[in-house]
Amino acid sequence: MKPVIALVGRPNVGKSTLFNRMTKSRDAIVADFAGLTRDRHYGDGKLGGRDYIVIDTGGFEPDASSGIVREMAKQTRQAVAEADAIVFVVDVRAGLSAQDHDIARYLRTTGKPVVLAANKAEGMQEGPQIAEFYELGLGAPVPVSAAHGQGVRSLVEAALELL
Ligand code: GDP
Ligand code: MG
Repeated sequence: MKPVIALVGRPNVGKSTLFNRMTKSRDAIVADFAGLTRDRHYGDGKLGGRDYIVIDTGGFEPDASSGIVREMAKQTRQAVAEADAIVFVVDVRAGLSAQDHDIARYLRTTGKPVVLAANKAEGMQEGPQIAEFYELGLGAPVPVSAAHGQGVRSLVEAALELL
């Protein structure tokens, strides 16, 4: 079985952009993987010499109680349940938010291995903007730029190393 990586994070942090960078084909794999639900976005990827499946998710609000937001939260929980590793995407330009803390707390309860992707880091030096995400207690943020394709291979390698 290929390892499954789920992309989790609040809306607009760049999950779908990262998904596109991490995949070489989309929606091609579900038939081979019994147990994966069909109503989310799956892709096949191969970076760092290893095949994997990646799941994109909608924005996640763990305490959402109604409507579409609640549905997205449910989808995200299912994606996390299916995943062998989580890439938790945060936005270094927006900075650390209360929602990021909520998501980190939720992810810790799952016991799944998590890599923290510090996205939108193009043109940024390692510094306080990235370092503040250590506060989430999920280890070293991996700086990436999904939009520019920077750091994505290292991120995937870091996720696969946790398996
Ligand atoms: P999602 O809601 O988490 O799936 O986020 P999207 O992938 O839809 O991206 C949200 C916005 O962030 C879009 O306008 C993207 O172009 C932008 N974005 C994504 N990745 C990057 C990045 O690496 N750098 C910058 N500057 N913008 C990005
Ligand atoms: Mg998206």
